[in-house]
Amino acid sequence: MSELETDYLVVGAGAVGLSFVDTLLDEDPDATFVIVDRHAKPGGHWNDAYSFVTLHQPSASYGLDSIPLGHDRIDTAGPNKGYFELASGAEVLAYFDNAMRDRLLPSGRVAYYPNCNYLGDHRFENIFSGSVTEVQVRRKLVDSTYFETSVPATHKRQFDVEPGARLAIPGDLPDLWRRPADIPGHYVILGGGKTAMDTGAWLLQAGIDSGRISWVRPRETWFLNREFVQPGEQFFERVIEGQIATFKEAASADTVDDLFLALEKRDIMLRLDRDVLPEMFHYPVISTGEVELLRRIEHVIRMGRVTRLEERKMYLRNGELPVPDNTLYIDCTASAVRPKPTRPQFEPGRITMQLLHVPLVTLNASVTAVIEANFDTDEEKNALGLPVGFIDTIDGFAMTLLGTGMNRMRWAQNPVIGNWLAKSRLDPSAKAIAWLRENAPERLAVISRMMAASMAAVPNLQRLAATAQQ
Ligand SMILES: Cc1cc2nc3c(=O)[nH]c(=O)nc-3n(C[C@H](O)[C@H](O)[C@H](O)COP(=O)(O)OP(=O)(O)OC[C@H]3O[C@@H](n4cnc5c(N)ncnc54)[C@H](O)[C@@H]3O)c2cc1C
Repeated sequence: MSELETDYLVVGAGAVGLSFVDTLLDEDPDATFVIVDRHAKPGGHWNDAYSFVTLHQPSASYGLDSIPLGHDRIDTAGPNKGYFELASGAEVLAYFDNAMRDRLLPSGRVAYYPNCNYLGDHRFENIFSGSVTEVQVRRKLVDSTYFETSVPATHKRQFDVEPGARLAIPGDLPDLWRRPADIPGHYVILGGGKTAMDTGAWLLQAGIDSGRISWVRPRETWFLNREFVQPGEQFFERVIEGQIATFKEAASADTVDDLFLALEKRDIMLRLDRDVLPEMFHYPVISTGEVELLRRIEHVIRMGRVTRLEERKMYLRNGELPVPDNTLYIDCTASAVRPKPTRPQFEPGRITMQLLHVPLVTLNASVTAVIEANFDTDEEKNALGLPVGFIDTIDGFAMTLLGTGMNRMRWAQNPVIGNWLAKSRLDPSAKAIAWLRENAPERLAVISRMMAASMAAVPNLQRLAATAQQ
């Protein structure tokens, strides 16, 4: 068995693990890192993504704090027209690969072990050679696998597929051109989340008639309107007004359903079918252009989850349905989000990377690194970032708003974190605020209205969150 020594042993070279290392490299100039991941390249689940995946939030505030992603361009065509660009999966993957080669490894303080499974007890094993390495960890194990992001290419299917039934994953679709004789006559999208949306949009944009597409949506979801998650100065008032409106509605809504419906009236929340009340909310972001496109698919099947697929019939929890000849089923049932109990972020010898500011996963990771470097005890560190539990139903919304708002407040009151955030590209409003401070300080008055609205919403959010937990 070989041996290594390091300050931090980081499990996972996805967005979260890499963001943590990127920020701690600057915040603590002495710290050393060993990063272990079973994937052959950095970037985590983006290695397994379908080729037409994109970020659903703007590239401008995703990735590592030290390296811009994209060119802060505003799209001039397509369903994202008028908004900040969204990196493709290939761009995200290249970005993390370059970050490893251009910044992390050249620092001389990072050692990266791809193709390795973490075994626990500070040991990892190379997948190909079977050789095991033991790591002497001077400071902490950093577990960045908490989110267990699941994607169609790697997840475990929860339904049976009988011989003859043709099943694909979204990543197979762009390859259909290679077998013209096999082009399906009908397509059935399985799943109601963001991957299913991407797949529906891809099929329609590829030229497939909407009448040849069916869509199994066991649950409907609410979406955030992309207009309200834009980072630039030109969107500043609209975004902050959106937050004020959210808190104002949150202060008075009787139920979480009422809160979403009120936000829909203000165009902040969107849904595909106005006749069905969504049960799910994972913070997906979508534009009104994409919603209009997806509404063209009219054959929506709401009979629960699929249990078995046959060539000419599918079985769902609440019944069965025939499907046309030459149907291709497309598995979009992996859930990127896995609700789990939280634990303290900082424990002796261990950091478990969780959500502090929903849904900005890389901002969370970087702030965690700032806290790790600048404060002494685990107690002090945990007081600056309470993990926010994630529930995949709409009931979790009050809790995530409340938890994020409270952490945000703690950070704003702490000069170390506040100063770091003011310069960070991962905080969507930071850059706009810095620009306005220099160029148009009068436009910042709206911030105090937002603070007041957020404080006023706390009692009702606490009530809604408590109701959700019962
Ligand atoms: C299609 C899609 C689009 C998304 N778009 C956005 C977006 O626009 N904005 C946003 O903020 N979030 C988005 N997300 C959420 C996504 O979860 C985050 O962006 C982020 O990439 C998650 O990073 P991670 O490091 O937590 O997880 P992962 O990318 O899953 O990385 C974890 C890594 O840990 C490794 N690992 C796990 N266990 C072990 C072990 N025992 N041994 C060795 N290695 C191990 C895995 O191989 C993996 O590489 C999206 C998710 C999906 C699926």
